[in-house]
Amino acid sequence: MHEIYVTRPSMPAQEEYYKEISDIWGTHYLTNMGNKHNILEEKLRDYLKAENVSLFCNGHMALELLIQAMGLSGEVITTPFTFASTTHAIVRNGLEPVFCDVNADDYTIDTEKIEQLITEKTSAIIPVHVYGHVCDVEAIDKIARKYNLKVIYDAAHAFGVNYRGKGIAEFGDASIFSFHATKVFNTIEGGAACYKDSEIGERLYQLKNFGIQSETVVNGVGANAKMNEFQAAMGICNLRHIDEEISKREKVFHRYLSNLCDIKEVKINLPKNDIKFNFAYFPIVFNKEDDKTIRDKVYDRLRTYGIYTRKYFYPLTSTFECYHGKYDASKTPMALNISNNVLTLPLFADLELEDVDRIAQYIKQILVE
Ligand SMILES: *Cc1c(COP(=O)(O)O)cnc(C)c1O
Repeated sequence: MHEIYVTRPSMPAQEEYYKEISDIWGTHYLTNMGNKHNILEEKLRDYLKAENVSLFCNGHMALELLIQAMGLSGEVITTPFTFASTTHAIVRNGLEPVFCDVNADDYTIDTEKIEQLITEKTSAIIPVHVYGHVCDVEAIDKIARKYNLKVIYDAAHAFGVNYRGKGIAEFGDASIFSFHATKVFNTIEGGAACYKDSEIGERLYQLKNFGIQSETVVNGVGANAKMNEFQAAMGICNLRHIDEEISKREKVFHRYLSNLCDIKEVKINLPKNDIKFNFAYFPIVFNKEDDKTIRDKVYDRLRTYGIYTRKYFYPLTSTFECYHGKYDASKTPMALNISNNVLTLPLFADLELEDVDRIAQYIKQILVE
């Protein structure tokens, strides 16, 4: 039995990576914003159509330090249907997350419900482009202007996504991306912050390097969150193949779709019009309200066939043990329901289409058992 995991990181050809890193043995320049780092930063600025890009050791530190650099205070409106990182980054900055519910048709923040959560303490909105679906950026922008709030998008899932001809990083005051091994584009581990205000860039540059301004001046309580040269080299290689990566994912996505679109037990959300999608994930949502037994059964049974899916995102971040008793998940009923019923199927560039057919067959079989 050959096992299939939910994801499998794409890698460049060995020779291509060796060639990219070979000059490092001449320079001995391993980290601290070296040549590879600067080349990748520049290439990503073009690819993402972002005004400014700052690279990080991972996406989480990009978000955590971006929040610090932007000087947010008090309360931040966000969603609980996300990866641990989004909520933790807010809390680790000493801020209070205020959880808004999500839409059924794209899993992103329900903009109809934002205004009722705004108080005099609210300083920002941190929405998530879940699975590469684009948040209602126009509605969010309108609310942010009306109440003078900052907007940071968690775009960890949205690398390569365009909306109405614009890069996804062009929306809001800033966005973060993750280049973790499991994402559409990887630098092994890595991440980036994209931002409009160049002053944020100076602060970020210091915050990711201990707050050091010059040899003898340290004027920020910084962290160490720099991207090293070997990570950047991986990124330079992978970026050369990003179009092929996304088009291979697209084939897998459509193969799942043709297999599963007529099953009445599951809901599959397609990207909206005007979106150039990145086919990062293939989530299915079992539409039995408030009952996770079917989802859990499919998850367990698929494992016996060597198919490892993921309950992603489950549980909601607002129900994590570390936040016990602080938040009420019943106030975000849509997020709670999706979280209890979602299953993310294996999707990566080199997944065989026959395997997609096989996974879909198993699911259909399990559902009639
Ligand atoms: C992956 C991810 C992150 C964190 O990125 P890392 O690079 O793993 O630190 C943040 N938010 C979301 C939604 C993610 O999926």
